[in-house]
Amino acid sequence: MSRDVADRATAGFRQRYAEEPAGRWAAPGRVNLIGEHTDYNDGFVLPFALPLRTVVAAAPGPDGRWTVWSELDDEPVEFGAEQADEPGRVDGWAAYVAAVVWALRAAGLDVPGARLAVASDVPVGSGLSSSAAIESAVLAALVDLGGLDLPTGRWPRLAQRAENDYVGAPTGIMDQSVVIRGRAGHALFLDCRTEEVEQIPFDLDAAGLAVLVVDSRAPHRHADGEYAARRASCERAAATLGVTALRDVATADLDAALARLDDDETRRRVRHVVTENQRVLDTVALLRAGRIRDIGPLLTASHASMRDDFEITVPEVDTAVEAALSAGAYGARMTGGGFGGCVLALVDADAADAVAAAVTAAYAERGFAAPGTLTALPAGGAGGPS
Ligand code: ADP
Ligand code: MG
Repeated sequence: MSRDVADRATAGFRQRYAEEPAGRWAAPGRVNLIGEHTDYNDGFVLPFALPLRTVVAAAPGPDGRWTVWSELDDEPVEFGAEQADEPGRVDGWAAYVAAVVWALRAAGLDVPGARLAVASDVPVGSGLSSSAAIESAVLAALVDLGGLDLPTGRWPRLAQRAENDYVGAPTGIMDQSVVIRGRAGHALFLDCRTEEVEQIPFDLDAAGLAVLVVDSRAPHRHADGEYAARRASCERAAATLGVTALRDVATADLDAALARLDDDETRRRVRHVVTENQRVLDTVALLRAGRIRDIGPLLTASHASMRDDFEITVPEVDTAVEAALSAGAYGARMTGGGFGGCVLALVDADAADAVAAAVTAAYAERGFAAPGTLTALPAGGAGGPS
């Protein structure tokens, strides 16, 4: 058993800096329950925060200097304002920390120098948003240490800018929104056009349910190029249809819209986005009515749409979904941008282990490297100090 993540952050801090941290701040990973490739189409998503957290132990440091250590790397990284002020000057994993300093300074805030130690239970690069977790935990620490006047309502946009403009990763607002604003027992309904959010009851525990998250461990083949191609295809289709974004195609108008597109591939791309937006709305309606089990078919339909219409699944994730459904899951789907990443399955809490075992067995049968599995309940967002 690995030591508790908060203890690891504290121990790392003591060992590295030979002093006590002033506090610990944490932010969770996240998973998207439903709504895939809808974000850049001005549509809807419904993520929730995971019980896995990234913890930052921190204390004030020399003015204008930041030192950060992560248990993922032996060497601490130190940088000053001149590096933080120029995107690209700090690279590698520490860029995610420098990025937050940069975004705070760009917002006109007087960021205190600090020493930081990072420990995390969020798997890195699996699509559970370890990036938003480290950004948000660092943000929480610096805001508190400096007594900065930055209401939490502004945190998601600031952390997103850090990742977009300093790290150079073109993410939407979903990850930071849920990692910061997530609430235990709830999913976060986010309208990516207006950025309005609403907490939707999703109390799996009370219903005797759980979400099984399977890390497909599939290598991300061509993911960046394929993502860009899907995005371009959606933008071209919106232009052809004379709408700002595919979000503006109503479900009732879908057939008429498809008839105006002249190639089959674009028609399938549009059909995914329009039906996926509707599935998010339908999921929210069912959850509001307390009918959690009934969202299963929507999850499974989302997967079929990603597999057949948007064409972003790979054999590993299709295998995991099929095995989970055969083992009794209420619904299952790939989550995240595609070409690998994670699968989630809605299961009875006491069946989670059996479903995980069934997925692992199906993987072995196909000759795939063993998947990672974890059972998740919706948890709270960034916080501290502790
Ligand atoms: P994901 O967000 O899906 O986990 P990303 O590629 O967006 O994947 O972000 C992963 C990157 O974030 C890592 O490669 C690393 O640079 C940085 N990162 C995340 N968590 C940590 C951590 N605990 N310590 C150091 N760097 C981290
Ligand atoms: Mg990320």
